[in-house]
Amino acid sequence: TTPLTNLQARDVATVLHPYSNLATLPQTGSLILERGDGVMVYDVDGKSYIEGMAGLWCNALGHGREELVEAAAEQMRKLPFAHLFTGKSHDPAIALAEKLKEISPMNAAKVFFCSSGSEANDTQMKLVWYVNNALGRPQKKKIISRIKAYHGVTIASASLTGLPNNHLDFDLPLSSVRHAACPHHWGFAHDGESEQDFSKRLAAELDAQIEAEGPETVAAFIAEPVMGAGGVIVPPEGYFAAIQPVLEKHDVMLIADEVICGFGRLGEWFGSTVLGMKPDTVSVAKALTSAYVPLGAVIIPDWIDEALTAQSAKIGVFGHGFTYSGHPVAAAVGLKTLEIMERENILAQVQAITPHFQKRISAFADHPLVGEARGLGLVGAVEVVADKASKRAFDPRKAVAAKAVAFAQEEGLIVRAIGDAVAICPPLVISESEIDELFERLGRALDRAQDWTVKENIRA
Ligand code: PLP
Repeated sequence: TTPLTNLQARDVATVLHPYSNLATLPQTGSLILERGDGVMVYDVDGKSYIEGMAGLWCNALGHGREELVEAAAEQMRKLPFAHLFTGKSHDPAIALAEKLKEISPMNAAKVFFCSSGSEANDTQMKLVWYVNNALGRPQKKKIISRIKAYHGVTIASASLTGLPNNHLDFDLPLSSVRHAACPHHWGFAHDGESEQDFSKRLAAELDAQIEAEGPETVAAFIAEPVMGAGGVIVPPEGYFAAIQPVLEKHDVMLIADEVICGFGRLGEWFGSTVLGMKPDTVSVAKALTSAYVPLGAVIIPDWIDEALTAQSAKIGVFGHGFTYSGHPVAAAVGLKTLEIMERENILAQVQAITPHFQKRISAFADHPLVGEARGLGLVGAVEVVADKASKRAFDPRKAVAAKAVAFAQEEGLIVRAIGDAVAICPPLVISESEIDELFERLGRALDRAQDWTVKENIRA
């Protein structure tokens, strides 16, 4: 290992890094980025990288968008802060709520603003509880999420997240949360089971789970259209078509977590539409501002709005909201982001470039290190395996995917290791030649990781 630079040493001495191995970081140090331009980012030494993760699945329009900078600056000059609590509002929040209603994948009544995906999903859980109290069915409170789902890290959102690291030692999940099976066909289908049959089995299992819990106690099912931080898991054919009637049968509402898929990732505004989900409510964040500033939102239908209003009439207040709910600068940047997406036909552009992106990912299925190459729209992953035929995984302590990601960084590509998967989620504005360069670099990284597994003899 090379010695840390001064900046790296100050970093590890002072910054408590989210989602990091705090024990090894002082030896390895962090990649310290300085600036960005389009799909490229540059570190403090001037080395360039293709931003293959759009930051954290969020920087949809790429870096250096002067219009977004201007929208923020103009709003800061005019009115840098105003809130939405009792009796106050402002134009950016109103206009953005109207826009989100217009493009929402369901019949939307209102929009609640917050600053992140976690806050959006925490709000979802509180709304589920509050509304069911308001509707006189306080026992209908459980929320079913899925193993490997990622919904955030606040108490409720981390509970909904279906990854052990988000629960262990944090005394989570909350007692009202359940997890259903993960819809990963390659990972969990029985031998010879078709995607359709796998989907039907998972729907039957969900039905049995709700019956066992007591349908009168189950309020909601939450799902990402494509699971992101669980390893980019694309649902099998017929999955939501099979799940939906089970939810309807038991009067269980569907919460779509569109924090990654929202705003074009799969070629339409929302992943729900692409995958045939019929959500009751929607959580959004990330690409809503192209991540230039933090912003999240929950979009709600009439019946929830009516229940909230009726309850307010009784008790005098809807007691939930953040200082930064509808922050005017964030709302202005959100509006500008959606305006740019429309003007530049980003949805059509994603649809046009997706086949090329997916063709390049699929080609890795033949790589000796890769068990599955998967994706949808402009998001995908390759999953490394010790043995392709049996799908046997590597010893997790060898962190082979993380090694591939480290090689990718040396090759000038930022991608992300999630367990055994290497995730790829570039800005939506990536060009065909940039996609080619991304996958050339990823190919070299995987080759180097493959050679490393042979040299270190870690396949045994
Ligand atoms: N939901 C999904 C689907 C996400 O991918 C994420 C973050 O990656 C979140 C929620 C949490 O968002 P945040 O990190 O903004 O709290």
